[in-house]
Amino acid sequence: MTNRELIEKQKKLAYSDNPVERIAAALLIPGALARQLNRLTNSQIGELLLDEVWSRLNLLHPESTICLHAVDRLRGSAKGKCLACPKCGNEMTLHYGIDEPDFFECVLLSCGHRKPA
Ligand SMILES: [Zn+2]
Repeated sequence: MTNRELIEKQKKLAYSDNPVERIAAALLIPGALARQLNRLTNSQIGELLLDEVWSRLNLLHPESTICLHAVDRLRGSAKGKCLACPKCGNEMTLHYGIDEPDFFECVLLSCGHRKPA
């Protein structure tokens, strides 16, 4: 299973009506996920923190600012990590691949243009 698949599986099982599945979500999957996370780089952990944690925080609370600061530190400087989108001209930002190679993605959601890093 990929990291993202494990994360989705744990989220799904955590709300299961079946107590055995909830135990798996609480005890088994975190161990498997932790072993896989040990193999990721700091940049990849920063990407997961942004995608899986920061995106669910309340922007009005200080946790959001603290989490974003940690993401910036883990992902490193943004210098040289931005391109102009050839499709719409907006900025493209570097995403560190978790279960796939790194890629640039347009910041305009309706554009969605991606290219390998
Ligand atoms: Zn674009």
